[in-house]
Amino acid sequence: MPEIALYRKYRPDSFTNLVGQDHVRTTVLNALKEDHVSHAYLFCGPRGTGKTSAARLIAKAVNCANPKEGNELCGECDICVDTAEGRLIDLIEIDAASNRGIDEIRDLKEKINFAPTRAKHKVYIIDEVHMLTKEAFNALLKTLEEPPSHTFFILCTTEIHKVPETIISRCQRFDFKRIDVKTMMTRLNFIAQNEGIEAEDKAIEAISRHVDGGLRDAIGLLDQLTIDKKLTFENVQAVLGISDIGTIEGLYSSLVNKDAQGAINTINKLHTEGIDLAQFVREFLDYLRGLMLGKIDKGEVDELPSIISLIDTFQEASYGIKLSAIPQLPLEMAAVRFCHGELKVIETEPAPVSKKESREHKAIVKGNPVSDEKIPFTISRLKENWPRVLENISIPSARRSLGESKPLQVEGNEVTFEFMTKFHMEKVLAQDARADIEKAFEKVFGKQVKVIGHLKKVELTSESSEGPDLASDAVEIFGGELIED
Ligand SMILES: [Zn+2]
Repeated sequence: MPEIALYRKYRPDSFTNLVGQDHVRTTVLNALKEDHVSHAYLFCGPRGTGKTSAARLIAKAVNCANPKEGNELCGECDICVDTAEGRLIDLIEIDAASNRGIDEIRDLKEKINFAPTRAKHKVYIIDEVHMLTKEAFNALLKTLEEPPSHTFFILCTTEIHKVPETIISRCQRFDFKRIDVKTMMTRLNFIAQNEGIEAEDKAIEAISRHVDGGLRDAIGLLDQLTIDKKLTFENVQAVLGISDIGTIEGLYSSLVNKDAQGAINTINKLHTEGIDLAQFVREFLDYLRGLMLGKIDKGEVDELPSIISLIDTFQEASYGIKLSAIPQLPLEMAAVRFCHGELKVIETEPAPVSKKESREHKAIVKGNPVSDEKIPFTISRLKENWPRVLENISIPSARRSLGESKPLQVEGNEVTFEFMTKFHMEKVLAQDARADIEKAFEKVFGKQVKVIGHLKKVELTSESSEGPDLASDAVEIFGGELIED
């Protein structure tokens, strides 16, 4: 497997080259200087962050025949070379994940008191120590209580919560950090240059962001995705299913401009291109998080509510992607909710003046200029502009009752509405309400109209056991619709 080859090649050979774990380097070098190296270290942290590499560095450091100034390894003596090549008999590496360590720990107990064969000290590295059986932990604990002076232990784990407290308390603990994107990019660029790989910055950045702080995975991907000494963003994107920063910025821009259609187009394009939408949302949220932190850092708080609302909306949508029969639907809904949800809040303001303002505001945030042009008055235009007519009616009961009707026909300056109930028709035709409604028409269509009401005839089958009056009463009370046979 070539990715392992490249990772092995660039495994740190000195504390100076231990990437992203400065706190470990400083403390260990200091301990070496003062001859206070702990006999038991516990390294915990996410996979691929350099725990085993650091453990091997310590194994070399306590044994190196010619340490350099500042206790850095010489890298040249027999011990350093043999350790690097995995040949040093006094370095014993146990992988607790493979068989849960029962035989190894038994063996360890038997041989622990034997002096080292070649080096000054014996070093035990136990990888994934949390996987040890209870018996193995107990045996290890006994050994850790009184380690022979020629022995060092370095325990590594990705799951510290599974390591018994009795073990933890006997070790000096180091928490290995996820390696930040910038540090990771520097390291990948260094390797690419050294290997004569022509790597696009975007490709290096995409890999660095993808691996969640694990350098080993990043180097593995660099190796795996390089074709003929070239690492292109296109290839990284295709293999990892990640998206272009331009797409992410484009989606953000559509959303803040309340362009729901634009946002939906982007989401569908991603889906068609086979992009993993769950991962895309993660990247989008990561982008928003970066924006939020940047704004806080600069003290620019104006855009924060909008960014936070986007994070909330899309975070919620991300939970639904895996469950949805149509994977893009939760994202489309998030886009619509974000673009139109706020408008709905503005539209419910009661005062007639703010009604008008809200309509204009809507036009502005949608990116359309406010148009004062009046619309030709026909039935189809009326149906298209129905919501605008309703929102221009200032008397709430008139608006509600007209909303219950159906525009039936337009003839000249007369507009006829069909009502299911007398109740709503009378509300609409009451003098004040009617005047208010006609004014709304004038605002939208620039035309004086006359509102006419028409009550829908309710016909019942003759077989009906209910009397017609009763049925129409019911319709009147419940505002329903009678279905004719
Ligand atoms: Zn050496």
